[in-house]
Amino acid sequence: MVISGPSGAGKSTLINRMLKEVPDTYFSISTTTREMREGEQNGREYFFISKEQFEKEIEEGEFLEWAKVHGNYYGTSLKPVKKALSEGKLVVFDIDVQGHKIVREKFDKITTSVFLTTPSLNVLKERLSKRGTDSKDIIEKRIKNALVEIKEIGNYDFLIINDDLEKACDSLISVAKSARLKTSLFDLEQFIDHWINN
Ligand code: ADP
Ligand code: 5GP
Repeated sequence: MVISGPSGAGKSTLINRMLKEVPDTYFSISTTTREMREGEQNGREYFFISKEQFEKEIEEGEFLEWAKVHGNYYGTSLKPVKKALSEGKLVVFDIDVQGHKIVREKFDKITTSVFLTTPSLNVLKERLSKRGTDSKDIIEKRIKNALVEIKEIGNYDFLIINDDLEKACDSLISVAKSARLKTSLFDLEQFIDHWINN
């Protein structure tokens, strides 16, 4: 399950709430070269590494996907995702629109995607400045990027407008539960065989 949307849309807030409500989920912790924000922990929100280390990991083929977002590298490590999928977990990705395209290319049939956004650009600006984690420069970069990202909505299965937090949370939980019911996740031959013989 891929969740994308402009920085400040509420992805982290909603994903954290959803993970507590939906069993057997696995949040894919990305690796990044961006600076750690106050309150973040290495290995919880992200694995924070240097640019040199990131480039080495690209060369070594460690990433399922990676992208440059707002001038920093972000990437998803392949191994833990494969392991979680093999354990039947719902893997949740908080990745940008470029990452979503790559996941689609690799796992199209089993992917469910959600674009999450604020009701308007003005609300996004408000939330980014209220969050108080980024400088003015960084906020401007994120707003600029939001104007590009918003045009990608049509490539996603679902759109959630995060106005009322509770409603948005209920919607995200519904999508996560539905993601589990995709026919492409079942061994249909085995199911039909079992169904006929019982
Ligand atoms: P993202 O992970 O998409 O960058 P965050 O989860 O950090 O976004 O949310 C950005 C800010 O908006 C945070 O300060 C968060 O508490 C706040 N926020 C999230 N959802 C809502 C909402 N529905 N109404 C008001 N504020 C919200
Ligand atoms: P932030 O710096 O606000 O945590 O994240 C900035 C952007 O990077 C968000 O749009 C987020 O979805 C995206 N992002 C986080 N991790 C990854 C990743 O592993 N791959 C890609 N492509 N984007 C990511």
